[in-house]
Amino acid sequence: MKKISIAIHGGAGTLLKEHMSATKEREYQLNLEKALTAGYNALATGGSSLDAVEIAIIELENSPLFNAGKGSVFTAEGTHEMDASIMEGKERQAGAVSMISGVKNPIALARLVMEKSEHVFLAGAGAEAFARSMDCSFESKDYFFDELRYQQWQEVKGTDQIKLDHSISKENKFGTVGAVALDQYGNLAAATSTGGMTNKKFGRVGDSPMIGAGTYANNATCAVSCTGSGEFFIRGVVAYDVSCLMEYGGMSLEKACALVVHERLLKLGGDGGLIAVDVAGNTSMTFNTDGMYRASMNANGEKIIAIYK
Ligand code: ASP
Repeated sequence: MKKISIAIHGGAGTLLKEHMSATKEREYQLNLEKALTAGYNALATGGSSLDAVEIAIIELENSPLFNAGKGSVFTAEGTHEMDASIMEGKERQAGAVSMISGVKNPIALARLVMEKSEHVFLAGAGAEAFARSMDCSFESKDYFFDELRYQQWQEVKGTDQIKLDHSISKENKFGTVGAVALDQYGNLAAATSTGGMTNKKFGRVGDSPMIGAGTYANNATCAVSCTGSGEFFIRGVVAYDVSCLMEYGGMSLEKACALVVHERLLKLGGDGGLIAVDVAGNTSMTFNTDGMYRASMNANGEKIIAIYK
């Protein structure tokens, strides 16, 4: 079989072992493993990298542990506004949605935007109308309600603070989710899905649905999915920056990721991390925070599941 490779993340932030119970840690590991295996199996049975990243993300969106789909954080108005994007590296086609509510799996909608519309980016009520026209599953407010997320919001409700969900309190850590993959046809894909930042208002949108900032894929270089304080990732055009350093600067994946995350992003004041895979199947999971929920598996069956530095 030709090389296949996949990496996923569940958010980066102030993740410290001393703040996590053994049970919670195990729960995260199990959920990461489930999503990783689902994506990997898709690749191993001949599926495309697009299928693999979508399948892995749907697993993570359906878990309340992560800040995407079920488990999305609360906005300042007490609602959920979700963002997602997906990109494939062969034709560089992409789809993205932003500020959507009620859609069970935002990543599936982003893929439909890519494959079934003439557009790349749909937002708000229009994106929801498109979802209905595509027969996407919708869920009630109750489905998206999560007690811990609600408590996180209570901590900053009524203030001007917006918070990364997984850094907000010592006990409760969750995160934006992402996946990158290389399939046996040599094609790369990347996808990211999030509820954004707790207590966000004024229609705030982060990097996750923005092609080039939070998500990017190009068969000539790599596929990247980011997590962290979105404003900095937008200003640094982080996912594309990694690709550019490889394409124009001739850097290896690992070098490009390290330079972007540990130098260029830090210079802007940005905290977070990213996962990336290149056309040779190398993966990188790089972050400048205390931890990042992450997992990867390659063609040699080498598997990593990790949380802390
Ligand atoms: N990057 C996301 C955003 O700014 C947040 C995250 O990664 O958790 O919306």
